[in-house]
Amino acid sequence: MAKWEAEDEEKPAKEPGEACDLCGRKGFWVHLSKCPMCHKFVCDECRYQHGGKDFCSRHCANEFFWGGEDGEIDDL
Ligand SMILES: [Zn+2]
Ligand SMILES: [Zn+2]
Repeated sequence: MAKWEAEDEEKPAKEPGEACDLCGRKGFWVHLSKCPMCHKFVCDECRYQHGGKDFCSRHCANEFFWGGEDGEIDDL
């Protein structure tokens, strides 16, 4: 009946770039980075930074830099 939430509800639940693929955080105030390996979107809290790039996880950073081998990236 009420239309005050219509804008929110019309959006698909899973639109790329709209929400963090790891924690589900979303909103225009959330900065999302795209993982260059698996193309997931991750928020600032979930992202894994390495080599000046943002990944969704250490695993993807490894794949990107080392082709899947367990390289020299250390867990912090
Ligand atoms: Zn997140
Ligand atoms: Zn990834």
